[in-house]
Amino acid sequence: MGMSRRDFLRGGALAAAGVALTGRPGEASADAPQTRIKGLKSSTTICPYCAVGCGLLVHTKDGKIVNIEGDPQHPINHGSLCSKGSSLFQVAVNENRLQKVMYRAPGSDKFEEKSWDWAMDRIALRLKETRDKNFKAKEINKKDNKEYVVNRTEGMAFFGGAGLDNEECYLWSKFSRAMGVGMLEHQARL
Ligand code: SF4
Repeated sequence: MGMSRRDFLRGGALAAAGVALTGRPGEASADAPQTRIKGLKSSTTICPYCAVGCGLLVHTKDGKIVNIEGDPQHPINHGSLCSKGSSLFQVAVNENRLQKVMYRAPGSDKFEEKSWDWAMDRIALRLKETRDKNFKAKEINKKDNKEYVVNRTEGMAFFGGAGLDNEECYLWSKFSRAMGVGMLEHQARL
């Protein structure tokens, strides 16, 4: 049977499309998503690094992280990640990662291990001390030389991060205002 030039081109295009969809003819792809993550638990989360907020899939086995990759279903990144986001597995699973509180006392040349409860109490104590030491109830405005109620502390600033969601940002800003802190910034703006 003869084959026209048109038949030949059509057959070639169909064969190419088949190979593109399935890999080499007759060969199963070892990297197919369902094969690669078979038996793993998949959870969604957000990259903590910047305000883009890329979506991630975290795969775990027996409670341990075995893989982190971009979430193809996420409306922001559609599965892609920048170099920082792509390195998150190495941040989560790393023998050099600090997992305990290490404290170096003023003037000391060595770190000592402390509990999380000790660290939280100390942070709360130092926050309160700093706030009280620098608190201003009133201040004279240089422009009109009148005294105004300001109720603020300029001894510290609050710093939010891209890992915070809307509700956490709301609480963070409420907490800073309640403490009298006027300098509230976000990591992604720096
Ligand atoms: S650091 Fe990269 S991967 Fe993470 S949210 Fe920002 S752009 Fe996305």
